[in-house]
Amino acid sequence: MRFPFKPIPISLFTALFVALFLLLLFFFGRIAYLEIDDLENKFQAASKARAEREIQRALNLSIEHIEAQTEQLAKWEEVGQQLHNSMFYSYWYRHRAKTNHLISQHIIDVALYDLQGRMLSLIDTALLPESIEVQQVSDYVLMNQFEPLLVVIRPVWDAKGESLQGYVATLSRIIPQFLSSGQFNLVDIGTLSVDIGNTDRIASHELFGAIHYELISDDYADTLKRVMTESVLRLAGMAAILSLIIFPLAARIMSRPILQISQHIDLLKKHSKATVTSSFQQPLLIRELDKIRQSLNDYHNQLSDANTNLDEKRRQLNDLTQLDPLTGVRSRAAFDEYWNEINDVFQHSRGQVCLILFDLDHFKAVNDTYGHEVGDEVLIAVSQTLKNTLSDQEQLFRLGGDEFMAVLIGVNARKAMQIAKQVHLAFSRYPFKEIGILEPIRLSMGIAHTKPDNQASLASLQWQVNVATYQAKRPGQPNIILFTEEMANHAQGLFSSRTHSAVFDAISQGTGLIMHYQPIVNLENGEAQYFEALVRIVHEGKLIMPSHIFPLVEAKGLEVDLDRQVILKIESDLRSGLIPPGTGVSINLSAPCIIENELFDWLEALSPYMNDYKILLEITETAMITQMQKARAHLSRLQSMGFRIALDDFGSGYSSLRYLGNMPVDVVKFDINLTRLIDSQGKNPILNHLAQMIVECGHLLVAEGIESATSARQLGRLGFQYGQGYYFGKPAATIVKPALDRGYAEFSA
Ligand code: C2E
Ligand code: MG
Ligand code: MG
Repeated sequence: MRFPFKPIPISLFTALFVALFLLLLFFFGRIAYLEIDDLENKFQAASKARAEREIQRALNLSIEHIEAQTEQLAKWEEVGQQLHNSMFYSYWYRHRAKTNHLISQHIIDVALYDLQGRMLSLIDTALLPESIEVQQVSDYVLMNQFEPLLVVIRPVWDAKGESLQGYVATLSRIIPQFLSSGQFNLVDIGTLSVDIGNTDRIASHELFGAIHYELISDDYADTLKRVMTESVLRLAGMAAILSLIIFPLAARIMSRPILQISQHIDLLKKHSKATVTSSFQQPLLIRELDKIRQSLNDYHNQLSDANTNLDEKRRQLNDLTQLDPLTGVRSRAAFDEYWNEINDVFQHSRGQVCLILFDLDHFKAVNDTYGHEVGDEVLIAVSQTLKNTLSDQEQLFRLGGDEFMAVLIGVNARKAMQIAKQVHLAFSRYPFKEIGILEPIRLSMGIAHTKPDNQASLASLQWQVNVATYQAKRPGQPNIILFTEEMANHAQGLFSSRTHSAVFDAISQGTGLIMHYQPIVNLENGEAQYFEALVRIVHEGKLIMPSHIFPLVEAKGLEVDLDRQVILKIESDLRSGLIPPGTGVSINLSAPCIIENELFDWLEALSPYMNDYKILLEITETAMITQMQKARAHLSRLQSMGFRIALDDFGSGYSSLRYLGNMPVDVVKFDINLTRLIDSQGKNPILNHLAQMIVECGHLLVAEGIESATSARQLGRLGFQYGQGYYFGKPAATIVKPALDRGYAEFSA
């Protein structure tokens, strides 16, 4: 998996870790602080509860105390007397009521009320109210200049306790009484206050709720909180400082050996043969990384061992590739090396260099027919012949397949030609029959040599020798060809990659493939009997001719594919009515196509036309037909399908008579060269007899390459029924009626 971002350095990771750690520290510190706060709140709540109890107790005691005094007053006989007779009430009030032993100093006023609740006598200094409500007597608290005062009212009964005399009321300063009644450990009494709100009085039991105070500050809780907070802060601060020191330090300790390893790998990358440096022999601080260091060193040692082995193997392989194992001749690799050396030398001192390229004809067919072992023997025979014929100064190489190259230094074209002829002679004497090969095997040779006046000739010498060999391989050409400049122009087109692709497009898809038709006439009356279909490829407005098509086709083994396209094209020409009904079509088939099993299906497509047309199949005689038996069987089957078989180019190549004897043939087409021989040596008895013999064997004879009326006439006399040649008509895209001029009229006369 690939990360979509750049790799991160350890330092940045460390910074991130530190930041994260500090964040966590802050988070936990905050939690600890809140816990301490919570603890403090709990402490305060407990103190408050205790303080409330302190207040409640003191309040109860002080109220009870004042109530008790008021009740004692109610029982005091002087009170009864005053209620009974209130004449001296103001005297009594002033001198007895507040000075008697029954009331404490905190009772600041006392008053007596009759049964209706009216004060016995109005006294202007009295603090208590002038009347009270007797229906519902109750104690209450009122505020006097921010001081709460408690009013306690008690009924006064007669001595027997049977009849109500009136009421006694006391007014007390409750706070001083309250303070003297209780013990306050938690309540800060200085902060004590009473607030009864907007009303003028509250019931005495409501007083507790109206008291406000603050707690005495709790030293213990405060100290605890301070100590705890300080501890948390100190711990967090220490952890933060440590993280700022420890993380970067740890990262540095970790990254240093990693960096060392990476630098070492870089060193090994730059110098694959570098030995392990002494610094990398020292153990690393971290065990796991040290294990990597050891493994790396081991791996490096293994690698350098393998490198040494590889170098050795490469050397051995180099030696091996210099020699071709089959023939013992030096290899293509050796040739390339040698050629480079020659180029170097040639740049300083100009000398004559000559190349001869040897190429076996139809070597693939030999392999297919006789098997690879025999094929190998043929190659050995070639190399033996070449070794025996060439001198020690002449360097021989096998370039691959059936191609051998001789490099001759200081040799001119004439001498090279001589050498090639010697090779040809020696090769033609080789007893191929002994290894079971009956057909003669042809060795094509191209020669190219440097010219003193041409600077670039060495660079193009290999190309030139190929062109020459190509020419030598063409049918009807001598097997030894010396490269000439005219050939160069001709070959430019032939070797151009555009020509190649045009040919291959035609073969694979039929693109640009057309047929030209040349009449084959009855020599008696000059009427066209057949039209020979001859293939052409239209490319960039020009025609590519068979002489250019076939070398490519044969080199790639595409003969069958080409013939397939030709049959399709002829079928469409027949369908379009191009060829006049009542005549015939002559189709050339290559040797590999004869033994192709699908040929019958392809030709079957022509059967609908066989009522209107005769169809002749020409088997070229120059190509070596392999698998004789199969070829014979196929030809017989084709005959039974209604096709006629012609042996083409008779007399131009291999074993003409052998084919004639072996193959079911209806027509024999004399090759143009043979025709010309008959023509020029009209009285040559052997040729005349050969022609007669063929006719007598029941074959129809066709003469190719008739270019004059005289030839036509002479050949007619020799028994040739048919003739073909420029005299009657050149191959053309349209059907041309044979244009018989005066010459032919003479002849027929
Ligand atoms: P071929 O079958 O022997 O065809 C006759 C060749 O001789 C033709 O050459 C033709 O143009 C040429 N020719 C005819 N009359 C004269 C004459 O009076 N004087 C001279 N100098 N030449 C004449 P082309 O068309 O270049 O074909 C060359 C060869 O290519 C053919 O020889 C045949 O072997 C092969 N070929 C042509 N078309 C096909 C094809 O469709 N399939 C196969 N397999 N081979 C073909
Ligand atoms: Mg032909
Ligand atoms: Mg021919």
